[in-house]
Amino acid sequence: MKLTVLTDNNTIIDRYYLGEPALSFYMEDGDRRILFDTGYSDVFLRNAEALGIDLHAITDIVLSHGHNDHTGGLRYLMEYMDCTKVRLTAHPGVFAGREYEGLPVGSPVTEEECRAHGMQVELTRTPVKISEHLTFLGEIPRVMPFESAFPIGIVTEDGVTTEDYVMDDSALLFHGEEGIFVITGCSHSGICNITEYAQSLTEETLPVQGIIGGFHLMKDDRQLRETVSYLKEHVTGTLCPCHCVSLYAKHCLMKELPVKEVGVGMTLELK
Ligand SMILES: [Zn+2]
Ligand SMILES: [Zn+2]
Repeated sequence: MKLTVLTDNNTIIDRYYLGEPALSFYMEDGDRRILFDTGYSDVFLRNAEALGIDLHAITDIVLSHGHNDHTGGLRYLMEYMDCTKVRLTAHPGVFAGREYEGLPVGSPVTEEECRAHGMQVELTRTPVKISEHLTFLGEIPRVMPFESAFPIGIVTEDGVTTEDYVMDDSALLFHGEEGIFVITGCSHSGICNITEYAQSLTEETLPVQGIIGGFHLMKDDRQLRETVSYLKEHVTGTLCPCHCVSLYAKHCLMKELPVKEVGVGMTLELK
């Protein structure tokens, strides 16, 4: 499986791609071509073109959750290409209306618009296989007392508005020959909760060889301290924290674990 970073907050010096505070990864696994999140704007399309990646060939879109820095690019994708036969997999809450400090932060595209463009929309709370090695995790059980404790604005579903704990937040599990790898968007459900759940889905408890994506760790608090000690105990390989991980949080992770810098154009090959 090969993963390429199409959108991230960070860009790499001397490589002339565009950055934005958002996330999008492109993955090839066997005959499946998977777009994991679409970033905030059309930046992922422009970077894909510059990287020589033809997104017209995608078979799958997987959305980590509904926030507009992960779903905003959907509209541009639907204008860019014929999405007929593209399968879109996400949690059923992904298209809910969301607000944070009075601003809309949910998906700017509705489920109906996706279906009208011919996408096969598969919304699921339970894990579903995307390709030979990749599984969409569905709803993440929230078992760690130090994670997912605070709401982010409000969410409106079926006419009911509540505090938004981003219950649609999910991730991908890569199941390799000698271990697993977690591919995450923003980890609002908690990176330790995600890792626990991903590992529980494998028959034998395989080692966690690494994680790439946003861990949603910002400041010096209990969550950061407990997460660093959990990851130190559970991850045998390299962490690739990006998007919503502050410099301070990266510093704390780097003191205890191997950490690789992520930026647009970075690739990862897993087997
Ligand atoms: Zn988010
Ligand atoms: Zn995000």
